[in-house]
Amino acid sequence: MLDFQKIALITGANKGIGFEIARQLGAKGIIVLIGVRDQARGDEAARRLQSEGIEASAVHLDVTEQATIDSTARFIDETYGKLDMLVNNAGISLREGRVPPSELDVEVFRKTYETNVFGVFAVTKAMLPLLRRSDAGRIVNLSSPVGSLSLNSDPQSFYAQMPPLLAYCSSKTAVNAITVFFASELRQTNIKVNAVSPGYVATDLNDQNGFLTPQQGATLPVTFATLPADGPTGGFFEADGGVPW
Ligand code: NAP
Repeated sequence: MLDFQKIALITGANKGIGFEIARQLGAKGIIVLIGVRDQARGDEAARRLQSEGIEASAVHLDVTEQATIDSTARFIDETYGKLDMLVNNAGISLREGRVPPSELDVEVFRKTYETNVFGVFAVTKAMLPLLRRSDAGRIVNLSSPVGSLSLNSDPQSFYAQMPPLLAYCSSKTAVNAITVFFASELRQTNIKVNAVSPGYVATDLNDQNGFLTPQQGATLPVTFATLPADGPTGGFFEADGGVPW
């Protein structure tokens, strides 16, 4: 590793938007670590990136398993001594959670939060000592306007017309809260923390129903992972600009 080289960790990056974020960061000369639950699929994804000349490797990281979070942090510490970018991308939208709140099973709700909320918190907390060693630490949390309380509570808004999917949508509301609170704690440091919506992207998460490609969806998260020093922190953004909380 050369002194000036940047290191990025992207969770849930064996496919979908996360894989494309890794590819686009890698194309900028950044060393990319793709966090994966399944090592074999992760190694295959890393090989695809390497075949494009990207310095990539797969690390076993299930965001619901603290031991894998700790081993990833140890590996990054021992190998690189720092982390420049953390993209909290891993996320789920369980099929059983796609019901009105009155029909939602508490276990489905809990499972969604384990990955989408506590996973983001646990990974962020574990990587923070490494990000503090960067001269420009960046944390990007994948969010969505479906998590906006302002939009959901406005009966005129497009989002209020959609099925009220409490588990997934409120998990993104909580991701937004995590963003605000960490950004606030880190305001006097070199670390910026933002919540970013990729847009509606065709991936397995929504049965390939989105209208953007993963390549298009990765663009804004990559912009926020590489923000200059005068860029924002503690915000919630989509392609058109700020999203109301
Ligand atoms: P996807 O194709 O289903 O990819 C999700 C990734 O997360 C997969 O790599 C998956 O790994 C991984 N993952 C799931 N649970 C995990 C865990 N416990 N630990 C580690 N990795 C885990 O979905 P996507 O659409 O690319 O979603 C990426 C992010 O964007 C999510 O946070 C999602 O909420 C957000 N987002 C997506 C859209 C959209 O329109 N697609 C819109 C707004 C926000 P496996 O392959 O092992 O399952």
